[in-house]
Amino acid sequence: MQQLSVLQKLEILADAAKYDASCASSGTAKRNSAGGKGIGSTEGMGICHAYAPDGRCISLLKVLLTNHCVFDCHYCINRKSSNVRRARFTPREVADLTIAFYKRNYIEGLFLSSGIVKSSDHTMEQLIETARILREEHEFRGYIHLKTIPEADAGLVHRAGLYADRVSINVELPTEAGLTRLAPDKNAGQIEGAMGGLRLAIAEAKDASKRFRHAPKFAPAGQSTQMIVVADTANDTEIIGKASGLYTRHRLRRVYYSAFSPIPDASAVLPLKRPPLIREHRLYQSDWLMRFYGFAPGEVQQAAEADGMLPLDIDPKLAWALKFRERFPVDVNKAPREMLLRVPGLGVKAIDKLIASRRHRTLRLDDVARLTVSIARVRPFIVTLDWRPTLLTDRVDLRALVAPKSEQLELFAA
Ligand code: SF4
Repeated sequence: MQQLSVLQKLEILADAAKYDASCASSGTAKRNSAGGKGIGSTEGMGICHAYAPDGRCISLLKVLLTNHCVFDCHYCINRKSSNVRRARFTPREVADLTIAFYKRNYIEGLFLSSGIVKSSDHTMEQLIETARILREEHEFRGYIHLKTIPEADAGLVHRAGLYADRVSINVELPTEAGLTRLAPDKNAGQIEGAMGGLRLAIAEAKDASKRFRHAPKFAPAGQSTQMIVVADTANDTEIIGKASGLYTRHRLRRVYYSAFSPIPDASAVLPLKRPPLIREHRLYQSDWLMRFYGFAPGEVQQAAEADGMLPLDIDPKLAWALKFRERFPVDVNKAPREMLLRVPGLGVKAIDKLIASRRHRTLRLDDVARLTVSIARVRPFIVTLDWRPTLLTDRVDLRALVAPKSEQLELFAA
């Protein structure tokens, strides 16, 4: 086999990693390098992110240890039956690359995943070894996100959490049937079992850190997961239900949604139809409704159409408001924050500003207009000192009136 240079390997393995969306680096505790010991600390300047136009995080060196894999997940370009160029880094090569890139200021940390070579345990050991070299030999205090392998020994998964800021296990598909069909080597119970183990270890480490100053950190930025949105495996209602269950059961920091995008040499088992990217966006919006807008999962699911899919032409918050018109209009001068959060077109920041302003004066429509992208879209749902919609919420053409024409309505307009 031809020997590849590190650069050639990087070309192959960085490209192979681009399909994983779960790489945001938010929420980590800072490791400090006080006393001039160690490098890469984010203390004092925070971790900043850069996102590519398609929403993927680019501030980390995002790479696979190898794209060889003994599994055959149909949606994955690295599956064993895929005809792609293969490469494999050693843990030391990845550690050296990370440090070299870090010193050039290209990156702030590492997102490391891997195909499964030899066995899950062996692969997990290689991932851990990379993180160990970085932390112990290079004294690297920057951000490390390790993708962990649910089939690996629980002790190894635990060791990964001692080096990484964030750990993640991909749940892959929202339903067990979808997983069985598209990732036959994976097991839903094993995936959730490993997530449960991480949740416990994270909680125990947090608890220990409150009692012992030098208690070892364990994945201080928590765990996340990624769900692949494939056209015919689950509808949005099922995806929302699965995500909300994962947040509750495993205290996940984030669920990332990744609309399946066509891969070279795609498996014949995959549906021909690719889901529109806007569907991924609507799922992220529904996720925000649950995490920041106080919507119960069942309420977000109510925003879906009869086929269980969220509308693509309007955001889920507007879809919910149009279905539950009897809850509107909301008086911006009197309504509690929970109800203001339901108003389409008003974001969390705008609402906090409105609440702060109304302590001093009675708000007019102009006051709201200054805080939103389009007051025309908010108007039917609110009451102000000088504005009350007359039967607007009863109009049959309300949806057409408030739906964005070509531009998408800003759910989080602030
Ligand atoms: S385990 Fe499945 S998803 Fe992961 S690299 Fe292998 S084939 Fe791809």
